Amino acid sequence: MSNATPLPLYAISLGSNRRHVRFGDPRQVLMAALAALESDDIEAVDASPIIASAPLGPSRRRYANAVALVASPLSPPEMLERLQAIEAAFGRRTGQRWSARTLDLDILLWSGGAWSDAALNIPHPALTTRDFVLGPLRAIAPDWRHPLNSHTVRQMAARLVRAKPVDRAASPH
Ligand code: ATP
Ligand code: CA
Ligand code: CA
Repeated sequence: MSNATPLPLYAISLGSNRRHVRFGDPRQVLMAALAALESDDIEAVDASPIIASAPLGPSRRRYANAVALVASPLSPPEMLERLQAIEAAFGRRTGQRWSARTLDLDILLWSGGAWSDAALNIPHPALTTRDFVLGPLRAIAPDWRHPLNSHTVRQMAARLVRAKPVDRAASPH
């Protein structure tokens, strides 16, 4: 493929806090999910280390979290549909917000900028408040600028650390 028109880039967050009968513990679920993301029209560019983070909400399980950079010609709604198909293939049931879930895949950023419709908001609205997302994202895309607040990922991560003692915006993964 020619380099003349680079493919759009997406930053995708991966989270799991539930064992999968075949893949194993949450870390292994994420490694399998990273492999599942790659396809004819989704090219893996980079992946962060997988981190373990404390659970939020009623679930007492630990989460495994990571962020992947992928290049893809898919539109944002097409990418969301693809991510939801992968979640379903990993046995995710609906109605699992704040509870144990095998796999959660969110679109964090898209090189095309912002997107907003009833089913999809890019950048992900909680991106700026979640260290378990900004940490892994900083490892692979520190200079990516949020299209709405124009801060880099590095700046957002640093602001979050400073804001932490008074940060009340705890929200689910
Ligand atoms: P959170 O959005 O706080 O991380 P969640 O990931 O637990 O919550 P889900 O139940 O997985 O929430 O998804 C709810 C809906 O969010 C999805 O059906 C999808 O339509 C919508 N959504 C909006 N913006 C995004 C995005 N950037 N990435 C993924 N889903 C999104
Ligand atoms: Ca989600
Ligand atoms: Ca999520």
